[in-house]
Amino acid sequence: MDRQILLEHIAVPGIETFDVFRSKGGYNAVAKVLKELSSEDVVAEIKKSGLRGRGGAGFPTGLKWSFIDKKSSKPKYLVCNADESEPGTFKDRYLMEHLPHQLIEGMIVSSYALGVNTAYIYVRGEFKYIIGILNKALRETYSNGFLGNNILGTGYNLDIHVHPGAGAYICGEETALLESLEGKRGNPRIKPPFPASKGLYDSPTVVNNVETLAVVGPIINMGGEKYASIGLGKSSGTKLISACGNINKPGVFEIEMGLPVEEFIYSQKYCGGISNNKKMKAVIPGGSSVPILPANLILKTAKGIPRLLTYESLSEGGFETGTMLGSGGFIVYDEDTCIVRNTWNLTRFYHHESCGQCSPCREGTGWMEKVLHRIETGEGRSHDMDLLVSIASKIEGNTICPLGDAAAWPVASAIRHFRNEFEFHVAHPEIVKIKDHGSIEKYT
Ligand code: SF4
Repeated sequence: MDRQILLEHIAVPGIETFDVFRSKGGYNAVAKVLKELSSEDVVAEIKKSGLRGRGGAGFPTGLKWSFIDKKSSKPKYLVCNADESEPGTFKDRYLMEHLPHQLIEGMIVSSYALGVNTAYIYVRGEFKYIIGILNKALRETYSNGFLGNNILGTGYNLDIHVHPGAGAYICGEETALLESLEGKRGNPRIKPPFPASKGLYDSPTVVNNVETLAVVGPIINMGGEKYASIGLGKSSGTKLISACGNINKPGVFEIEMGLPVEEFIYSQKYCGGISNNKKMKAVIPGGSSVPILPANLILKTAKGIPRLLTYESLSEGGFETGTMLGSGGFIVYDEDTCIVRNTWNLTRFYHHESCGQCSPCREGTGWMEKVLHRIETGEGRSHDMDLLVSIASKIEGNTICPLGDAAAWPVASAIRHFRNEFEFHVAHPEIVKIKDHGSIEKYT
């Protein structure tokens, strides 16, 4: 369970440079596909690997690639979604900062597979220093003949451009990202049509996450079947998990899919346990948009089976007793955490980031924030919990893009699992009004 694919060479001095990356076998996958494989062969290899999108949705990458309209007379585009803005998720930033060539190699292979001659890396606006790292790496790649015209003398041409975003969370949604890339306001589009047929500039487009593209080179080198044999079942390969919150060793870890959650949180190799010898109270395992689970349910399913780091195990039990792997942003809370304050804080974020196009999201996130604020500040009313559940249910599934669901799920799950905390807030305004009151457990 300690297989390293993406981070194998992370500790090698200078690995962010072309020469050192190349000396470790970097860009071998480019040479292999351009000289030995057809584009169909590459797509087939990725399908065989079972790779699923690492941005959060977990959709099979090979299948997504096969949807691109290759017969279209328009140019095809590949866009790397590097707009990593999900609270608790910081693994793509880590990859781009330390292994920019791993991403570029994957983009060249993927572009070849998709018949693309122009690709973009859409980088979160706040990552200014990473834009410089990527541009430097791209210059090195051009000067070594792996980008530009007639790559390695094979007749294949590819240009990759870095495009900075302007700091909007919603631009991590693929169609909002495409609007922004076209120079417009980052409003999500109604789907269908999907980007595979009408994407950037109305042309067939594939949008993939940084981690997804970065692992394409290693998959080509080892073969799809070998990659599929790593991990567990339909959760093949490895996954980067960014861990933060009340743990002893926050950071980015590469785990083989199937690692028990308990081992990930408590082993010295990964998170190193809960800081200050406190008890764990809850975990949001997939970036802030997925349902929160209390400690008992993140370690074991409702059936008492140890929870594993796979798409399937984390969602076992549905939203009643399960959650989602999402983007792999693990946020761990200790026993001192006030769940009401935490939920209010997250809801403020989603309200602020709502683009405002659809009323359930625009109005609902605002109402949820307002109600949560009054509960947290000692002004709550006895029916507020039911009101929050009702508002969340009206948002879920009724919006243009997934931000609506992302705002509704944390609220609904917090009330589902920690209703007693919300009720205590309403019943004891004198305690709640204490600044930084922390967990209500110490008052009960
Ligand atoms: Fe905009 Fe929210 Fe609707 Fe998404 S769900 S399109 S963010 S208003």
